[in-house]
Amino acid sequence: MHGPREPLDVDRLSQEGAAVSFECDLSGLAPLRSVHAGITGRIQGRVRFGREQGFAVAELRMQGSALQQCQRCLGPVRMTLDGEARIALVGSEEEGARVPAEFEPVLAPAGRISIDQLLTEELLLTLPIVPLHAQGEAGCKAQQPATREVETHRPFARLAELVKR
Ligand SMILES: [Zn+2]
Repeated sequence: MHGPREPLDVDRLSQEGAAVSFECDLSGLAPLRSVHAGITGRIQGRVRFGREQGFAVAELRMQGSALQQCQRCLGPVRMTLDGEARIALVGSEEEGARVPAEFEPVLAPAGRISIDQLLTEELLLTLPIVPLHAQGEAGCKAQQPATREVETHRPFARLAELVKR
């Protein structure tokens, strides 16, 4: 068994094709909380390591949800996290630049990364920087529509698309 904070040996796990299951309380991820203050929620899932195209890769499947604060009305916004990501674990930014487009490069310095770090990287890419209830959503208490658009590192479309398969 691997603890969620234990740095894992990426080369060894990818050669073994190891799978690691996880259950994670989002409020326990300090680096995530420093970007998304007050985030709560739980996710669970599994990471399967392997090698593809010369890279150590991690296939991450997760299910769960996150609660963030709506920046329009300050009420809770629930974000469903249900999907999978294909991640290439790289030792340097130069190596990351060579990763094929179907993988997300994530830095594993000296070939080590913990499950918590991997989940944090993925959630930082996935969660909206400015969480907002959808325009006109019943849960939103704000009277005035926000002028600011939702900013994300990357559109949510991809996760949603993967769920449909
Ligand atoms: Zn709102």
